[in-house]
Amino acid sequence: MKKESSLSEEIIDVALVRGFVFPSAEIYGGAAGTYDYGPIGTLIKNKIVNLWRQRFIYEETDHNIRIWEMSGSRLLPEPVFVASGHLEKFNDPLTQCKSCKKSFRVDHVLEDYEVEVTDGTPLEELTEKVKEVGAVCPKCKGELSEAREFNMMFKTQLGATGGHNAYLRPETAQNIFVSFRRLTHSMRAKLPFGIAQIGQSYRNEISPRNFLIRMREFTQMEIEYFVAPEHLIDYPKFDEVASSIIRLVTREMHEKGEKAMDIEVEEAVEQKLLPNQPLAYILALETEFLQLLGVPYEKFWFRHMSPEETAHYSGGNYDLEVDSDYGVIEIVGNAYRQDHDLQCHAKASKTKLRIEHDGKMIVPHVVEPSLGLDRIFYTVLESCYRNDETRTWTWFAFPPHIAPIEVAVFPLRKKPEELIESTIELYLDLKDIGLDVFYDDSGNIGKRYARADEIGIPFCVTMDLESSKDDCVTIRDRDSTDQVRVLTEDLASILQMLIDSELTFVELKEKYSIDEGLVEE
Ligand code: AMP
Repeated sequence: MKKESSLSEEIIDVALVRGFVFPSAEIYGGAAGTYDYGPIGTLIKNKIVNLWRQRFIYEETDHNIRIWEMSGSRLLPEPVFVASGHLEKFNDPLTQCKSCKKSFRVDHVLEDYEVEVTDGTPLEELTEKVKEVGAVCPKCKGELSEAREFNMMFKTQLGATGGHNAYLRPETAQNIFVSFRRLTHSMRAKLPFGIAQIGQSYRNEISPRNFLIRMREFTQMEIEYFVAPEHLIDYPKFDEVASSIIRLVTREMHEKGEKAMDIEVEEAVEQKLLPNQPLAYILALETEFLQLLGVPYEKFWFRHMSPEETAHYSGGNYDLEVDSDYGVIEIVGNAYRQDHDLQCHAKASKTKLRIEHDGKMIVPHVVEPSLGLDRIFYTVLESCYRNDETRTWTWFAFPPHIAPIEVAVFPLRKKPEELIESTIELYLDLKDIGLDVFYDDSGNIGKRYARADEIGIPFCVTMDLESSKDDCVTIRDRDSTDQVRVLTEDLASILQMLIDSELTFVELKEKYSIDEGLVEE
């Protein structure tokens, strides 16, 4: 059923009723900032992860560079975060209402007064701004306290009697740095190489909000690329992307409020708009990745973060920002972390975190893309959501490779029994050859097409009473709602070509005939 509300509200509605995402522990009122992915959401999420693994790990690994994946513990002892600086610096500015005692992020409160605040603004300045605009408690209009730091890590104690502080990791990266010695020795690593990790991260956000955008438990897909200084100016795979175009917003452009420019990555490095080749390479890869997920090129760009938004040790941060119904959101953080992390952990743990390169022991430099899976998932939903005149229900135009299910198989009617039997047989045959199929015979065919569209299944196959006589079935295309009748023996190969985007539905209509099959011109 269609209804009028904002795009994000519509998407949340759809997510709840169609098994995408729901608030965790909803029957107990939920816990703010935590969500469960339902069966359909999990299928889509897994496909996004598979594509990330395929593109960033499997296809990346060759004779020039190896990328390995690891899975680290989410619980880490305190010394890790003392050394990494999280204990001291992983803070958000908090203000508390003096009447109702509710807490808020000061920058969020100020946003409501149209005061834009960059990350890293000193607390005194924030308190000053609150006074200047006369900001009050968003809930009860009470007076707000002075701004103070709030550490966002979840703290716990190890063991029955406690005494050993530990924290849920606020990012996946630290596992990789602290296990660097084991990783390099066990894998006989040679520079350049990468360690990837996907997993949960935890941040005690003061005010979780905007659905999957600001959560307390979320999933990150991070890769730490370890490189030698010479790889910064001569990265072995750079030629593969040198002429790729990315969208970039420089610091000056951002200050002037200018829109992103299209630029070749090679030129961006030559003009020193990007700090090095590996980082430029990663931005090209992300540009391709997002488009594979169905996010239009014009919807996102990379922004060079301002000095205030950048850690002192960073050689440059470039956020992948997306234009969304929630405004501009960061969905990927890209950072040239130099050798900061390994140096910190080496010093604090008194362990040598080095690697042999060209006969010398060196501390490698690190370039890090940190992808937030949940924000990417939401961006994909927003990009693929359709509420248009083509049908009376809303639908998702997911690219086939990330659709939750590739093909739905239906009998036209529920009778006779033989029709059901042969449709189930067809469904099982398609399943056996590895297609991602779903069988449904409830309701009428129109309702089944609608249900398939609603979760973005790209192709439906229907068997009818004629099928047993002419050995044909009908394929329905989600995007155009067009139908083509094909021989059952041609079905699997046609579906595979459609799913792999080797054939469009328009081409199928034009080039296929039951007598001659697919005719190549
Ligand atoms: P950061 O380390 O803050 O640059 O985060 C890296 C990525 O993790 C971001 O680009 C987001 O996609 C994701 N992320 C960070 N915080 C949250 C959050 N509270 N909820 C959901 N995703 C997040």
